[in-house]
Amino acid sequence: MTTYKAPLREYRFLLQELFDVGELAKLPGYEDATPDVFEQVLEEGAKLCEEVLFPLNRSGDEEGCTFENGVVRTPKGFKEAYDLFRQGGWTALVCDPEYGGQGLPHTLQFLVEEMVSSANMSFGMYPGLSNGAYRAIWHHGSAAQKRKFLPRLVDGSWSGTMCLTEPQCGTDLGQIRTRAEPAGTDGVYKITGTKIFISAGEHDLTDNIVHLVLARIVGGPPGIRGISLFIVPKFLVKDDGGLGPRNGVRCGSIEHKMGIKASATCVINFEEAEGYLLGEAHKGMRAMFTMMNAARLGVGLQGLALGETAYQTARQYAQDRLQGRALAGDKFPDKPADPIIVHPDVRRMLLTMKAYTEGARALAAWVSLALDRAERDPDPAAREEADDFIGLMTPIIKAMLTDNAFAATNLGVQIFGGHGYIREWGMEQLVRDSRITMLYEGANGIQALDLVGRKMPMHNGRLLRRFFHPVDAWLRQRLEKPELQEFVMPVMKAFGRLQQVTALVAQKGMADPDEAGAAASEYLRAFGLVAMGYLWARIAEIALGRLGGDEALFYKGKLATARFYMARVLPETNTLFVNIAAGAKSLMELEAEAF
Ligand SMILES: Cc1cc2nc3c(=O)[nH]c(=O)nc-3n(C[C@H](O)[C@H](O)[C@H](O)COP(=O)(O)OP(=O)(O)OC[C@H]3O[C@@H](n4cnc5c(N)ncnc54)[C@H](O)[C@@H]3O)c2cc1C
Repeated sequence: MTTYKAPLREYRFLLQELFDVGELAKLPGYEDATPDVFEQVLEEGAKLCEEVLFPLNRSGDEEGCTFENGVVRTPKGFKEAYDLFRQGGWTALVCDPEYGGQGLPHTLQFLVEEMVSSANMSFGMYPGLSNGAYRAIWHHGSAAQKRKFLPRLVDGSWSGTMCLTEPQCGTDLGQIRTRAEPAGTDGVYKITGTKIFISAGEHDLTDNIVHLVLARIVGGPPGIRGISLFIVPKFLVKDDGGLGPRNGVRCGSIEHKMGIKASATCVINFEEAEGYLLGEAHKGMRAMFTMMNAARLGVGLQGLALGETAYQTARQYAQDRLQGRALAGDKFPDKPADPIIVHPDVRRMLLTMKAYTEGARALAAWVSLALDRAERDPDPAAREEADDFIGLMTPIIKAMLTDNAFAATNLGVQIFGGHGYIREWGMEQLVRDSRITMLYEGANGIQALDLVGRKMPMHNGRLLRRFFHPVDAWLRQRLEKPELQEFVMPVMKAFGRLQQVTALVAQKGMADPDEAGAAASEYLRAFGLVAMGYLWARIAEIALGRLGGDEALFYKGKLATARFYMARVLPETNTLFVNIAAGAKSLMELEAEAF
């Protein structure tokens, strides 16, 4: 069995030592979000995740969802768990109090999402998608649409979906064929088409499902510019908020997948379903991006979350499993063998998992704090700065955290040896579950293109400066501190080379877009590793000052992991920089037919 205890001490470290969450309570609307409130909410969330959601993770994987006569059933226990989740107010955490929400900061939501996904990623898909639908309607809906749909999405009695993908289009949404015909009343359309791979598209957890559907208004412009976004409820909603007749929305089947088996992934057929235009006609992609950007960060968190569960489980196993003797002499001569944690190779794997997971959490917290500032800071310049930073970091969080999660869960299996391959230990489920995070919400290669093709040149490099300037300043201020050299110097070197390759990619990419495309994935990874390196250096600085107290072991762990990161993780950037400089030629010269 896997092990999971919510890493509350880690959260306290991030919120109160690495960052200052107390600052959030100074933002208008967040006055109640004090560090104490954070702590209480996280403790309550931890209980729910450990005691209710986690025990359903493996049974949910074994049982999966079922589909019969158009009805989808989630695995045993999911409905009861969802009711508890919703009654506990967890669907309302960050939502607007005007619609019944609690108006708490995104930073808190991020940590709760991490706990939920660590405990049971499949379960987390349902409220996760609903929150995305809530955000899209909250940002782009009319007052009437908000009144009609938001309160039930907030209290969780209804759920939401995001319907983009069709058989002929995944990445390239310009090929969408689902069509919308005006139904005679302003803003009302008849939606017809087939969507595939729709998470939470049909299930038995809620009374209604609010689909957000990308479709093309008949006669609209071709390609991506002709796409609009519609609210299409499974049951029509009366003016008083009560449920009306069934809309023309049916689940055609569910997918049989590699992982997240308790999350229903559905084919959804729309047959002249009544839909309501959300936002402006033909500007659906803009509205959908509100949902997708949040979802991309959410997927990064899923990755981090699975890495955490894999790490906790592998750490326990490595302490317990007795095999072989330490190379330098027996460590536990009274036992038949030493625990495998004595072996350098097992330590290499565990430390990689720890460095990835804790570094990822620091990166995610940095971005979530910006999300709160972007929404609440009274100073427009501060809001813009935070927004730029989020835009820059979103593809990095999505892609690097999920690539690392797959690597970390895989290392978890390796630490378990053959037992890792056996289902009852639960480690192979983490690998299978984590694999989807690299694919959906824009495959990781697409995130890299977003970074290089959109975010890098945006506003003449302004987004990049939101990262480069503060990191540069922090590093320079510490150049003279001898105790920090082992952390500052490697980051400084990699940071310098990152700036050089940024200029190179920008310049070569302008002359030939294939050059940017060829560099994109490795550039994203190098960027992410440098960003994480900077945070590990900051963590090391804090840990160095706290080695003497009651929690010496905790800080020793931080320091040793920071050292490991500088010595054995950050150097990966050397290869990446070489690959980036190698350019597109070796990728592009072979004709497609010759493969
Ligand atoms: C379990 C699951 C849940 C999902 N949930 C949802 C959901 O709730 N709603 C929804 O709408 N969709 C959902 N999806 C769909 C998912 O978002 C898509 O599968 C994903 O966006 C990729 O699209 P595709 O599968 O068509 O791959 P393709 O677009 O065919 O891409 C295949 C490969 O080619 C690469 N590629 C494609 N175009 C380019 C390009 N221009 N440049 C470089 N590389 C490129 C991709 O990176 C990828 O590696 C889900 C999918 C799964 C499997």
